[in-house]
Amino acid sequence: MEQESSMTFDDILKASEKILVNVKRTQLIRAEKLDDLVGAIVYLKPENLQLTGSFKIRGATNCILSLSEEQQSKGVVAASSGNHAQAVAYAAGAKGIKATIVMPVDAPKVKVDNTMAYGAEVVKCGYTGIERDEKVEELIRINGFSLVHSHADPKIIAGQGTVGYEIMSDMPDLDAVVLPCGAGGLIAGSSLAIKHMNIKTKVIGVEPENIPRYRKSLEAGKAITVEMGQTLADGLRVNNAKDLNLQIIREYVDELVGVSDEYILKAMKEIIMKAKLLVEPSATVGIAAVMEGNIKFSPKEKVCFVLSGGNVDEEFLLKVLK
Ligand SMILES: *Cc1c(COP(=O)(O)O)cnc(C)c1O
Repeated sequence: MEQESSMTFDDILKASEKILVNVKRTQLIRAEKLDDLVGAIVYLKPENLQLTGSFKIRGATNCILSLSEEQQSKGVVAASSGNHAQAVAYAAGAKGIKATIVMPVDAPKVKVDNTMAYGAEVVKCGYTGIERDEKVEELIRINGFSLVHSHADPKIIAGQGTVGYEIMSDMPDLDAVVLPCGAGGLIAGSSLAIKHMNIKTKVIGVEPENIPRYRKSLEAGKAITVEMGQTLADGLRVNNAKDLNLQIIREYVDELVGVSDEYILKAMKEIIMKAKLLVEPSATVGIAAVMEGNIKFSPKEKVCFVLSGGNVDEEFLLKVLK
């Protein structure tokens, strides 16, 4: 049943050209102060410094710019309470396209405010993903909106894959790249790009230990849904795997490990204090997994960690630092 993945490196190259002027080209940072902690030569890809504070602007922009003029004129819709919401709002707003974002009724006020500040309309609906998906379907039916999916769309995966493409363009001889794995868009696109550019570079993914959807899916040989467990990494709070993402992950990701909340907190503090970068919990999982002993490197290896975002609640940040 092994099938070739239906996406290619060319999709990522095209995305990279398409989003060039709308997205920041973040520069790799050499983080000497983290070498001892990690036990390797550490580089960081600081997507916390990206527009809207996370890499999600890449996929959203690629998806929106790929729509026809007619589709763009009708507007776009997305279901998200997190970084994807802000990314779609921003990417649409930058092109003068109407965006409607469906959020749960209990979405944090700061996220609703940020999304609206980028010019999107926020529609609140229910508490579950199922309720939000139904609302999205209805808005598409009534208004002819185009859906900007957060992770299971080739245009989104190609956009997120520009993270891996840029890393390897800047440092083609990296020994390993470590990425967070939520719904799997970032790691699918990036692993495809990384392996194409250097087959010897190891790609390692990290998901919350309590929500092992892709590890279980790899074991099962098909995309499955696991019970929703607790994690502080809100960007990784997804309990179902997707076929396309799984297919790419199976082909290009060397290792997938778990991480606990205890180490996410420890890593967040270390990254803030030693690398001087503000990161959100989801962005810390690679370094957290090393601190927890779930990934091991040798001191001469050059390793890049993707700091996927920096949108952290003020009160939470204060608690972490105490
Ligand atoms: C969405 C997100 C992730 C996970 O990306 P996926 O494509 O869903 O795997 C990781 N970190 C941050 C900050 C995110 O917003």
